[in-house]
Amino acid sequence: MNTPNGFEEVLRIFGDPRTDNAKWQAANLIEVHCPFLFRYFDDDGSLSVLSHIRLHKLVAEPFTSVQADVLNYLRLAVKKEQGFDKTSHFYDVEVQKRIEADGYDIFGGSYNYRPIRGTVRKLSLHSFGIAIDMDPDKNPRQSVLKTSFPDWYINTWKRHGWFWGGDFRSLRDSMHFQYATGC
Ligand SMILES: [Zn+2]
Repeated sequence: MNTPNGFEEVLRIFGDPRTDNAKWQAANLIEVHCPFLFRYFDDDGSLSVLSHIRLHKLVAEPFTSVQADVLNYLRLAVKKEQGFDKTSHFYDVEVQKRIEADGYDIFGGSYNYRPIRGTVRKLSLHSFGIAIDMDPDKNPRQSVLKTSFPDWYINTWKRHGWFWGGDFRSLRDSMHFQYATGC
């Protein structure tokens, strides 16, 4: 699926969650399994482990592909550092440590029916289940770009069709990845 461009195209492809939200949710949202466990970062700073996140069914594949590539990238990085002669379990443990140390598993939210803060007209793409926030504490939404994500991580999302909120021209939203451009 090509990444939709503009709000009208988003409505056409993903449906309109405003008319009958309960019906739209039942028809479009699914629980998507993460290739590695996520930790949900709550507003009070506490973390809870998640194996699935709620997304629009049409972005399940591009989401899963990103996470699988992240896992493969880290596994190769660990092998290059530690040597290629260890057991699979050894790499699993080391990769998991790396995921947690760099916050690739810290999840700030996906589906959430709400307008963009400060506006009433437009819906946030979180309202369609096609936007995901990662490691919000270290990747705040602000005018000057601040991010903990290395280029390879951001490029992995982009390669699978996601637009990065750090590229917004006005407010930089570096925690945010969405499956649409131009809105
Ligand atoms: Zn967001």
